[in-house]
Amino acid sequence: MKALRLKNWGREPELTEVDRPVPGAGEVLVRVEAAGLCHSDIHVLDAAPGTLPYRLPFTLGHEIAGHVAALGPGAHGGPAPGERVVVHGPWGCGTCTRCAAGQDNYCDRRGSLDWHGAGLGRDGGMAEYVLVPTARHLVPIGDLPADQAAPLSDAGLTSYHAVSGVRNALGAGTTAVVIGVGGLGHLAVQILRATTPSRVLAVDIRPEALALADRSGAHLSIPMDSDTAAALRKATGGVGVDAVLDFAGAQPTLELATQVLRPGGELAIVGSGGGQLTVRKPGFLPPGVRLSLPFWGTRQELVEVIALARAGAVHVETEQLPLRSAPEAMDRLRRGLIRGRAVLVM
Ligand code: NAD
Ligand code: ZN
Ligand code: ZN
Repeated sequence: MKALRLKNWGREPELTEVDRPVPGAGEVLVRVEAAGLCHSDIHVLDAAPGTLPYRLPFTLGHEIAGHVAALGPGAHGGPAPGERVVVHGPWGCGTCTRCAAGQDNYCDRRGSLDWHGAGLGRDGGMAEYVLVPTARHLVPIGDLPADQAAPLSDAGLTSYHAVSGVRNALGAGTTAVVIGVGGLGHLAVQILRATTPSRVLAVDIRPEALALADRSGAHLSIPMDSDTAAALRKATGGVGVDAVLDFAGAQPTLELATQVLRPGGELAIVGSGGGQLTVRKPGFLPPGVRLSLPFWGTRQELVEVIALARAGAVHVETEQLPLRSAPEAMDRLRRGLIRGRAVLVM
């Protein structure tokens, strides 16, 4: 079968022919229908050797939807052959209390594993088939189109998890800001609209991302420039915002967050843009601010995101491409030319 493999750090991945995996005890073979392309894939490709624990080579692709092709011995109790599924991509040790509760994203043994999940150190879904270590990593999707389901497993799930973490601060009359309206951010806007009464403001450097924010239901979209903090403050009548969800995580966006948060507000840093904040008392952060560094999401949250999408409350704006166009799509994602999510369809 064909698979997009990362073979050397600092080099582009290669579309190569590899053997189709055969499921062993407890494993499930999934025929991939679609695999989303995430900005984290670009961070992986650009990582200096030694900064990530992954062993090479492996197949990329951590947003995966498809159908069950074959069950290994004893892999019963989950989806049956032919059933359409999405893969819960954070794969932990499988035995700690977090993993046992479907919270593999916060596996207690993360520091000793040489992978973070499907397509992140383990063979992922940018291939015709993917071997899933256990049926508990699969969530049924019914007739949800694969190009929708795949991005929901990370872009959707991570956004949902980040919103869940700040939901307590987002009651009636509150304001939330989404910074970075790309693959994750445009879903965060929709999830905030669907699951909170909050007013949703969106910020991005790209005009087409602000247009996407408008289509996604943002109440107001503001370009990222030297006036953004003033514009956000004005939009809240000078009070400041209750929560900032930062999907860029760059130095200017973290600084913007500290300038616009209301005392007691919430800052969720989702993007891996490498920005740094100094936490100090007394310091520059407003009093009472709570900080979170959400990573991906739980299996139960994935079930909830899929349900939201099936109910029509969340729609992923996708650009669909064949697997062979992955290198070109990665190049366009790196240069900020993808609108919504690029999804490889097999
Ligand atoms: P994307 O490229 O689709 O979207 C990023 C958006 O941020 C773009 O619209 C871009 O224009 C905007 N942006 C970039 N710099 C900006 C700035 N300085 N000010 C305002 N807007 C800016 O990327 P994505 O796939 O949505 O991923 C977003 C980030 O989240 C990446 O860093 C990715 O690695 C990270 N990520 C984190 C998790 C997690 O679990 N924490 C999961 C998935 C992705
Ligand atoms: Zn991702
Ligand atoms: Zn674990």
